[in-house]
Formats: sequence, structure tokens, C-alpha cells
Amino acid sequence: MLPIAFHPIYKHPLPEGHRFPMLKYELLPQQLLHEGIVTEKDFFAPDIIDLQYVLAVHDKAYVEDLLNLTLDPKAARKIGFPLSAELVERELRIANGTILGCEKAFETGVAFNIAGGTHHAFSNRGEAFCMLNDQAIAAKYLLNKKLASKILIIDLDVHQGNGTAEIFQNNSNVFTFSVHGKTNYPFKKEISDLDIALPDGTADDAYLKIISAFVPKLIEQEKPDFIFYLSGVDILETDKLGKLSCSVDGCKKRDEIVFSNCKKFEIPFQVSMGGGYSPEIKTIIDAHANTYRAASELYF
Ligand SMILES: [Zn+2]
Repeated sequence: MLPIAFHPIYKHPLPEGHRFPMLKYELLPQQLLHEGIVTEKDFFAPDIIDLQYVLAVHDKAYVEDLLNLTLDPKAARKIGFPLSAELVERELRIANGTILGCEKAFETGVAFNIAGGTHHAFSNRGEAFCMLNDQAIAAKYLLNKKLASKILIIDLDVHQGNGTAEIFQNNSNVFTFSVHGKTNYPFKKEISDLDIALPDGTADDAYLKIISAFVPKLIEQEKPDFIFYLSGVDILETDKLGKLSCSVDGCKKRDEIVFSNCKKFEIPFQVSMGGGYSPEIKTIIDAHANTYRAASELYF
């Protein structure tokens, strides 16, 4: 059993021109089913989240503005796509998918969300296609419910987890670790507990050396009882937004390093997808599918 939150897109909530980034959320489950990595039974479709869990992370005024679609135009522009009731509802389901995934991961060892990784959502604002920070909401949920006392967030998307860093800047129960492109968005970086900013063009060897050094080191140092992993595939050389130069194989090795350490130290973890903007949808799906292939090879 590989619990996977998915979020059916009944109708495209985005206007033409914004739809391409949504396509991967529909194609990835099909690819995983086609390969036999998962069965229909592994998928679950989360309901809308109980708002109290959102409000444990995000400011009330901001959440109300999202729900009522009353965000001021400047703040809405920073998010990057036109706000709609459908999109906000989708975010509320995605965040719940990450929470429910965590609960399942205590039994299965690992759970996924086919979406999420919305790490540019701050406590009081959204940025760069992120409105609500799903892993921050789930981390706070685990702490408040006393399901975990120390959490490690491993954010390997090419973009710094600035919202996550801000949300947990004064919280010693959550250790935020971000490895990202130095010259990539966000241009003004927040301060995570550990940031590693890589120069443009960093490729597999240098990249994987860092990941395989720091992941076990941080687990030993922080002794987390739960791990969140943000597995963005925008570290690829082909990525239109990312400035690193990793290969598809290198990206899979990265996932394997994270997963094998979670397994070795017996720490349950949840994986949210994050970014991936290669010009060919096939590359994006292949790289995201690799995250599932890696987990399935190791766990099942
Ligand atoms: Zn990204």
C-alpha cells in the first residue's frame, strides 16, 4: 500500500495559458497505474480541510481573503494565477491530502500527495502559485496533535522554501532544510535552519554529494520523528525555470538517498510534489514518476 492523495480536476479551473502546469497532476497517476507501481486502491481523494488546521499556520485575515476571493489585486498578482473558488477549494483539499498522508505514513512508512509542496506560501501571503503551505500545515498538525515532537522538512525543489522558512523561523520543533539554486527565485531568500544555495549549472556529482552528506547528518543531529520531503523536479538541466543541471537519473538518485535514509532511520515521511517545468511533459512525468518508482523499489 502506497497511500497517495490525488485531486481530480473535473474542469480546468485555470484559463487557457495556465493549464499546462496542471496537466502533470492528471497524467502522473495514469502513468503510475499503467506501470503497475500502484493500484486504484492506493489513491484517496481528500475532502476539504478543517479550517482550524489552516489557521494554525496562516493568518486569519489572509485565509478569509482567499475564501471570500477578496484578496487585493496586488497580493493576488503575486500568487500568479487568477483566484477562483475552484482553485481555493483545490488548495484546501491538497492541504488535507498532506495531513491525511501523514497519518497513513505512520502505518505504511511513506505517503504521497500528487500536488502540494506549496512552499512559497507565507503565514500571511501567497507567492508563485502557492496559496496555502500544505507541508507547513501538516507539520503544525502533527505537533499540535502530539503525533510528532521534532520534524525535519527536506526541501529539494530548485526554489528556496521561503514560505516554510518564514513560518517556522521561531519554531525549534521544526528544522527547515532547503537546497536550491542560488540565482533562482526567490531573489530575496528567507533564512531556513539550513540553506545550501548552489551555483548555476550544478550537476549530478556535486549535487548528490551534498544530498548524501547532509540528509543522514541532519537526521542524526535533529532526530526527527517525522520527515517531510519536497521532491520538486525543477533541478533538471532541461527545466525552464531552474538553473541547475541535474539529469533525470541524478534526480532519481536524489530521491533514493532521501528514502533510503528515512528507511534506515525508520522515520515515517510524506512527499509533496513541488515544481517541474521542463519543456516536454514527458520529461516532467518521467522525473516525478521516478520519485514513486524509487519509493516503491525500496518499500514494496
Ligand atoms: Zn520550484
